[in-house]
Amino acid sequence: MTIELNKVVSVHYNLNEGTSEGQLVESTNGGEPLAFIYGVGMMIPAFEANLAGLTIGDTFAFGILAAEAYGEYDPTALVEVPKQIFEHEGAIPDGLLEVGNVLPLQDPEGNRMQGMVAHVGDENVKLDFNHPMAGVDLFFTGHVETVRDAEPAELEHGHVHGAGGHHH
Ligand SMILES: [Zn+2]
Repeated sequence: MTIELNKVVSVHYNLNEGTSEGQLVESTNGGEPLAFIYGVGMMIPAFEANLAGLTIGDTFAFGILAAEAYGEYDPTALVEVPKQIFEHEGAIPDGLLEVGNVLPLQDPEGNRMQGMVAHVGDENVKLDFNHPMAGVDLFFTGHVETVRDAEPAELEHGHVHGAGGHHH
């Protein structure tokens, strides 16, 4: 059975930055494989395109440029806001505004977004709303663990049941 639309695919992989020698970002080795329904929009399209036609036991190694992954880094997504908006009962909670912290926020329309603290000044804070992997070229190496037909309930729910997926 080969990887195509509506197959449940599980893979073990390493994700490195840029090349197979780059910094390791994620790895499923030592844990459960990544399981997903192929071709239904769960994964980065370029990731799926590189797995098309593979079967159980096949290995893969491919790069995806940032623009086809999580997008280029957008300097306009770096926003300066006054520190005081983070005050709670007159004070900024200890440890809240530290570089690298990811803060859950809402825009005026109520949309939830996550901003990473990029710089803390005397009065203002710079928040970075780029995806943490924006501007990063990805490199995947791994192998195909399983390929099977999706159950009707999996297609209906839009997620995988069982190993590597939802248990319910
Ligand atoms: Zn379900």
